[in-house]
Amino acid sequence: MRMLVVEDEPKIAGFLSRGLIEEGHQVTVAGTLAAARSALATAGHDLLIIDRMLPDGDGLALIRELREAGNGLPALCVTAKDRVEDRVQGLWDGADDYLVKPFAFEELLARIAAIARRRPQASRILRVADLTLDAELRTAKRGEREVPLTPQEFALLWFLAEHPGRVHTRAELLAHVWNVHHDPGTNVVDVYMGYLRRKIDRDAAHPLVHTVRGVGYLLRA
Ligand code: CA
Repeated sequence: MRMLVVEDEPKIAGFLSRGLIEEGHQVTVAGTLAAARSALATAGHDLLIIDRMLPDGDGLALIRELREAGNGLPALCVTAKDRVEDRVQGLWDGADDYLVKPFAFEELLARIAAIARRRPQASRILRVADLTLDAELRTAKRGEREVPLTPQEFALLWFLAEHPGRVHTRAELLAHVWNVHHDPGTNVVDVYMGYLRRKIDRDAAHPLVHTVRGVGYLLRA
């Protein structure tokens, strides 16, 4: 799962993100509500793990905001506030679960698994400008034009579309899309980016695939 951990204590944030990454999750850490809001605006997440006492407010406020906007992103509140009223308030405000600090990492994992089981798979559609990707149907469209993609091309484009505007290095793309974690000195990423560019940006007035010379690639409207 792609998780956003909102925690202002660096020690706890580090402990959580290391543990969750070891479990195979992708983790972004934000230390404030403001940072969490911008992370949520730019990337897709499957789970929000949020502390209540943050420098710029109560983590529950962010959960309330999401719910009021119709956003059902699963949210797990992790906090030192352990009074029954606090926990009940958390659940009323839209948290899916509430975990009181200090907690055992195993318990966190169990609760994450429970949240994942309860939730139907969120709609898996990504949009960047007029590009639409549907993970279930494995289809890509640029405007009304269907773009036939191979599974590898689709995986690469999906990964780029999850973080529009962010530059991905070749090594990062190799790791995420091809599961290659060392540099085998291959130009497979460049070759595939070439395929994508031809398919996605063909005849387009505004190209979406961009190269940052010497760094990597990004998808941007
Ligand atoms: Ca805190």
